[in-house]
Order: sequence, then C-alpha cells, then structure tokens
Amino acid sequence: MKPTNPVFTGLATTVFETMSRMAIAADAINLGQGFPDVDGPEDVRRAAADALMAGPNQYPPMLGLPDLRRAVAEHEKRFYDLDIDWTSEVMVTSGATEALADTLMALLEPGDEVILIEPLYDCYLPLVKRAGGIPVRVRVTPPDWRLDIPVFRAAFTENTKAVLLNNPMNPAGKVFSDEELCEIAAMCREYDVFAICDEVYEHLLFDGRRHRPLMSYPGMRDRSVKIGSAGKTFSLTGWKVGYITASPKLLDPIAKAHQFVTFTTPPNLQKAVAYGLGKEDGYFTGLAAEMQDKRDRIVKGLKEIGFGVLPCEGTYFATCDITPLKLSGGDVEVCKRMVEEGGVAAVPVSAFYIADAPADFIRFCFCKRDEVIDAALERLSEWVGKTVV
Ligand code: PMP
Ligand code: GLN
Repeated sequence: MKPTNPVFTGLATTVFETMSRMAIAADAINLGQGFPDVDGPEDVRRAAADALMAGPNQYPPMLGLPDLRRAVAEHEKRFYDLDIDWTSEVMVTSGATEALADTLMALLEPGDEVILIEPLYDCYLPLVKRAGGIPVRVRVTPPDWRLDIPVFRAAFTENTKAVLLNNPMNPAGKVFSDEELCEIAAMCREYDVFAICDEVYEHLLFDGRRHRPLMSYPGMRDRSVKIGSAGKTFSLTGWKVGYITASPKLLDPIAKAHQFVTFTTPPNLQKAVAYGLGKEDGYFTGLAAEMQDKRDRIVKGLKEIGFGVLPCEGTYFATCDITPLKLSGGDVEVCKRMVEEGGVAAVPVSAFYIADAPADFIRFCFCKRDEVIDAALERLSEWVGKTVV
C-alpha cells in the first residue's frame, strides 16, 4: 500500500481526549479537557431549541446566517470599536478549529514560515504543516510567560508569512501585554506578515484586564484574521460555532477553503449565537467574574496543597509547577498517576510543545462547579499527602 500523509499518520490522539478517556476509566474528576460542567445560558439554549423546531433546517448561506454575521460585526464594534462590514468581513465556521484550518489553508503556500509561540494549542502544528507551512518556534517562558522580544524579532525572515497568536493563551493563562502586542504588530508591519489571532478566550480575562485584539493595533486591521468561538463565550463547547473577522482580501480565500471543508454550520445554533452575542454587557462581565472566582478558588487550594501555581490572567486554565511537591517522574507520569491513584485528571503541559518541552508543569481546568473544584482539591490534598487548611 502507498503511504498515507505523514503529518497525520501515526499522530497521537489529542492529549485532551486521552486524559478524558483516562478520567472516565478511573472514575476521576476531570480537570483535564477544557469544558464547563454546566451548560451555558438557558435563554441561548432556548433560542437554539426554538429555531430548531421553527426551521428552516436546510443549508444556511455559506458565509453564515446574516443575523449572526451582523451580530459578530456589532460585537467587534461594541467591545473593540472595530468597524466591520458584516457582508464582506465576517464568516461563520464550525468552531474555531475549522476557522484555523480554513485560514491556514487559504493563506499559506508551501515553504511559508509561520511563527508559533510555545506553549501552543495542539492543533496548530499539524494544521500548519499540512498546509505546507514551516513552523518557526518562539517561546514564552514560565513563571511569568513573558515574550522575549529580541528572540521574537530574530524569528522573522523574508519567508515569514504569518504569526499565529493565541491571546489569551491556552495553556499558560497569559494575556499578552500592550507592549508585547505593539512589538508583534510592529514586526508584522515591518515584514508584511499576516496575524492569525486565536482569541477564543476574549471574554475570559481577569482582575480588570480588558481584551485588546491585535487587529485593533496600528496597521493590523487588514492583515489580521480574528477568530472567536461561541463555545467559550457561551460555555457551550459542544456547539462548535466559530466566527472569523478579516478584511475582504483575506476572508475571500478563507471562505473558499471553508466552502469545501464544512460549507456551513447548523442554522439553529447560528441563530442562537446571534441572539447571545447581543446580550447585555452584564452577561459578558458576569462570565469573566464567575470564572475569576473559580480561578481564585482553585489557585488557593492548589497553593495550599503545595503546587507552584503560576499566574493566571485569563482562560479556563491554571498551570502549576510540580517540582515543589517532589513527586517522582515528569508531567506525563505525574498526570497518569494523579488520575489513576488520586482520582483527578489534569493535562501535562509538555503536550503543548513541539520539542524540548519542560516536564515540570501541569494544567488544571477550573470552569467547573465549585463543589467539583472542592472535591478535586480534597482528593489532590489526600493524594499529595497533605491537608488543605
Ligand atoms: N483555540 C484554543 C486556544 C482553544 O483552547 C480551543 C479549545 N476549544 C480552540 C481553539 C477550539 O475552539 P472550538 O471548540 O470553537 O473549535
Ligand atoms: N480547548 C480544549 C482544551 O484546551 C480542548 C478542546 C478539544 O478537546 N479539542 O482543553
């Protein structure tokens, strides 16, 4: 038999799926894969149910329902003062994952270099490679996850086509500073590079921080592709509704990729997300506040147990240094033992590196009910052999 494509052949199952399967097998509390354990707002779900029954349930327009494209454009105006033409600059996708795949297929040519910032979300590397891109690695390093600006600058060459930026950043819980975003924008301008901005956690920033899309920086409006996800914004990760905002010159080829990948996304979910994006400001601030409380709850407990908890400025995730606990083995082994013996699943952060990964960090997902967080902390405390005060 002839060989199948080497990018996907032999690739491991994602760490999220693997840890979730292990959690089920061990009857563990799952703080691995990033999903809330209660469903999002009832009115949004009701809107989806009503639209399902009222119909139509046939193919929606390829770019997405006008209601949702309009709602995305209004959202970009309301939160970021971006003026977006919904008819030519917004497209709906089946999740941010599809948006990333479409964008990489549409923007890259074989041999183009793409700057990726480690630790990176796991689908980036295979999607970049399958699209013919050459990954160029840059790192943010713990404990503060700051971007080393001279190293970042040195990564750019005449062959750089795009930077893939995840802000706020999974798994680091980092929110890029204004200074870092200014630098990234400056380099994109200087080298005439596209910015692919995975901003799925745009409404999950803590401690009074406000999200600033890279697209809003000088010279970035027409070279950025901004990607959002209803999964995160409405705590409905299974819906897989994403949206892209980009200038017509970029959106046009991205839409051509989309038309042959999924073509469209279920109409009732699109209608409900359109309704959701129009919710009052209090919904969005309330979501961040609720998640911040959960962050505080888990961080306090993990610190008491003895984990070296790193700062968490946004997202669903708290990353911990395991070295203070003096457990034997690296992050992968510790996560395996923790789920099997301790009854709590987390994710080894080494899974978010292309090579030379640190083995000292694990990620806990905290978008869970308070009692679930407390029960997990109790189990961890027992497992680690100390008592939570
Ligand atoms: N990007 C990042 C950084 C994520 O954490 C996730 C996780 N859901 C996604 C993209 C994928 O989003 P979606 O479920 O909308 O495809
Ligand atoms: N984004 C989620 C996480 O980081 C996982 C999504 C998935 O399993 N594909 O945990």
